Amino acid sequence: MTEPGAFAMTIGGRPVAGTAWFDVLNPATEEVVGRAPDCSRAQLDAAVEAARGAFPAWRATPLAERQRLVARIGEVIRELAGDLKYLLTAEQGKPHAAAEADLLDGARWCEAVSTLSPPVIVNEDDAERRSETHFVPIGVVGGIAPWNFPIALAMWKVAPALVAGNTMVLKPSPFTPLTTLRIGEALQAVLPPGVLNIVTGQDELGPWMTAHPGIDKISFTGSTQTGRKVMASAAATLKRVTLELGGNDAAIVLPDVDVRDTAEKLFWAAFFNAGQICIATKRVYIHADIYDELLDALTAYAATVKVGNGAHQGVDLGPIQNRLQYRRVVDLIEDARQQGYALRTAGEVPDGPGYFVPITFVDNPPDDARIVAEEQFGPVLPLMKFDSVDEAVARANASDYGLAGSVWSQDEQAALAIAGRLETGTVWINEALHVTPFASFGGHKQSGMGVENGIDGMLEYTNPQTIVLRKAGGGGA
Ligand code: NAD
Repeated sequence: MTEPGAFAMTIGGRPVAGTAWFDVLNPATEEVVGRAPDCSRAQLDAAVEAARGAFPAWRATPLAERQRLVARIGEVIRELAGDLKYLLTAEQGKPHAAAEADLLDGARWCEAVSTLSPPVIVNEDDAERRSETHFVPIGVVGGIAPWNFPIALAMWKVAPALVAGNTMVLKPSPFTPLTTLRIGEALQAVLPPGVLNIVTGQDELGPWMTAHPGIDKISFTGSTQTGRKVMASAAATLKRVTLELGGNDAAIVLPDVDVRDTAEKLFWAAFFNAGQICIATKRVYIHADIYDELLDALTAYAATVKVGNGAHQGVDLGPIQNRLQYRRVVDLIEDARQQGYALRTAGEVPDGPGYFVPITFVDNPPDDARIVAEEQFGPVLPLMKFDSVDEAVARANASDYGLAGSVWSQDEQAALAIAGRLETGTVWINEALHVTPFASFGGHKQSGMGVENGIDGMLEYTNPQTIVLRKAGGGGA
């Protein structure tokens, strides 16, 4: 048990305190928000054992009941969203409205995914035999979540894994564990013990999970660099893996757009959540005819946006979420400055503590600039000029990443033709960032392995099992 007010892990349906604790900082003030349990190896073993113990009964629970309980998880999160948004803002940095949206997206995902069922495919059905392929649960899923959308992206994993009949050990990011812990505590009254275990820890816990022989599948969202380590570690026990990794999404803007309107939409495509979105627009290729006009419109719009502490009224964009990422973004901006690229910044950032970076545009750097080639994951955006569509497509595709991209034009057919040529898992036309629980979402190239969402996403939590029934009196040899 834990002291009142303290944060507890959820293991086997019960609150479990840490044997050690770690501080979680508010990125806007650098003050301690709370202390999270630092899961020991023995506690991880206990969580895996609880999940293994709960698996036979959970997989035998009728699908409709599993779906009902996953929908109930959504309702619980929805009920708590108004209160938990303050905690989420404090640990993540995003403004209250965006924190509430993250919670409500988590709720929405649970509710939507609870309407999905793994299919049964009839392969053969004749007088002699019937062959069906079912999709059966894998076992214990280890879910590893990032810090940018701590609740929604965790529920992208929890909902399909549980509906499909798996049990789970979920690990939030050490930078944003507290809201997830609170949700776990609330769900102790909802789910059978052991079905959803939530553990928090620091750098060792993720690798312990990916190497753990009692975990059958890892569903990971995070950077490409860590994704490679996850896959290497999972190989030792041949765990199934789904990897949702980094992106370097290109937007291609044709010369026929309404410049002001596109500037505002592109701004949010790139800077929502302070640019810390896997599918944020991270490079913009603009036709030379409208380049200067669009750069001016973007900077003018940026000047109207308020950066600050997400807990303060009127703030549109919060800080960078943690010091490590802050250093990385500052380093990329510094590199651009040293290389002599033209920079345009907008807006004031608060003085004093907090990981704040002004909104920054880099004016037409070369394609091999670090700010173009690397994932910035922060409020800095390179804008590049192009002359021909073929050139823009080639430059957009010249990346190891392949998560998403967008095309902007009033000519839908021209935009659709470009969309089909982009080497990414999602392409938007005249918008960006739109995702639904019902559409496959995943990265090409080094942006990932497998998909989340939709029925394909749910099938990633299953093994196909073909059952062949030789019919009595069916004849034949
Ligand atoms: P990260 O890779 O640093 O960490 C992600 C998670 O992995 C955290 O919970 C972390 O504790 C854990 N982890 C770290 N090292 C590990 C290891 N060796 N083994 C197992 N687990 C380990 O990523 P982040 O900084 O939290 O998130 C930002 C990155 O995530 C960006 O690159 C972003 O593009 C990507 N991302 C991708 C998607 C997507 O759906 N494709 C969504 C959101 C974020």
